[in-house]
Amino acid sequence: MMAVDVSKFVNAQRLWERHMEMAQYGRTPQGGVNRQALSTEDAMARRVLVTWAELLGLTVGTDVVGNLFMRLQGTNPEAAPVVTGSHIDSQPTGGRFDGVYGVLAGLEAIQAIREAGIVPKRSLELAVWMNEEGSRFAPGMMGSSVFSGSRTLDSVLSVIDAQGISVGQALEEIRNEFPDIPLWPLERRLHAYIEAHIEQGPVLEREGITIGVVTGIQGKRTFRVSVSGEEAHAGTAARSERRDALLAAVELIQAIKALCEDDEDLVKFTVGRLDVKPNAPSVVPAEAVFSIDLRHPDSSKLQSLGDQLLDLCAYEYERCAVSIQELSAAPSLEFPDSIRSLIRRTAEDQSISCMDILSKAGHDARYLHYVCDTGMIFIPCKDGISHNEAESATERDLADGARVLVGVLLGLST
Ligand SMILES: [Zn+2]
Repeated sequence: MMAVDVSKFVNAQRLWERHMEMAQYGRTPQGGVNRQALSTEDAMARRVLVTWAELLGLTVGTDVVGNLFMRLQGTNPEAAPVVTGSHIDSQPTGGRFDGVYGVLAGLEAIQAIREAGIVPKRSLELAVWMNEEGSRFAPGMMGSSVFSGSRTLDSVLSVIDAQGISVGQALEEIRNEFPDIPLWPLERRLHAYIEAHIEQGPVLEREGITIGVVTGIQGKRTFRVSVSGEEAHAGTAARSERRDALLAAVELIQAIKALCEDDEDLVKFTVGRLDVKPNAPSVVPAEAVFSIDLRHPDSSKLQSLGDQLLDLCAYEYERCAVSIQELSAAPSLEFPDSIRSLIRRTAEDQSISCMDILSKAGHDARYLHYVCDTGMIFIPCKDGISHNEAESATERDLADGARVLVGVLLGLST
């Protein structure tokens, strides 16, 4: 088959060396990467990518939200393109593979197709989505969410970083760095989107499997709960008169924990933050504010659990009033079966082991899913460690992921 032949043009060593080169931009002393969105390091990394793309004869474009595109023109330029990619920004103590792998695997796949002398019918585009991590500018997945129409451009432009620099200003600076790259329209029709990524979890490595066919992305709802009581003397206040906000919060958290206990261990309920006021050893707490992060792979279950949780907050605990605010809600999603079976077939054709896997973390693919057929390819990472300078993956797995990506891109573009 044509796809199998083209995968032979994937150059494992070149792909590895490009990872090591990209890791220079924002390199940390511990061997990780700190390359935050629209920073100087981000600009340097973009420069290198653009150089590689131009050497390959790709057409480079950007858009108003700072996404970067590199296109291999197809024989039918009118047809909606097949897009692959990910992000090159990182957490402050990030690793050398999160995000950048999807970009470099995409570049390697397009280079392999080019070197095999194949011109696909649909254009192939490599996308670098702006600010996936959300560490400099929150929230994350800015570029992909604005591109897909899930967020407005205006809603992200005014977001500021810790130094008071806005996304709008930072975008202007990066545009000035690349004055020759033309602006492409924000709203474009895409045929399909495929994102390769390290798993960021331990499953593939534990099972000894190279390719994860991602079935979908787990949904998440986040809340902030405030419990208001009253300050009182720890030695003199009678129990019947106390309005202890911390005890109330503990009671409420226990009630939510009971609600979230399931035999299958699918519900993920986390209170990662608790702030108590005045936080003094001899004062009955007057206020307790805590966060809730709630996740479940099934959207309807996530919805109903979140709603029951809201109900639990409608009561008083320890005579304290409770108020709850929902901060974000992202449903669980399932990638189309057509894309999943294409990934599976492509891996099997190349005798690369694969299995279905759910993504428990969010990715740009979450937003692309709303505008075109989307899928993801996972590869193993060492001990499942990610968002960590110790993040690691093997040259062989990186290359196998790119080989599968080649076949999938050709399958979608011919
Ligand atoms: Zn990522």
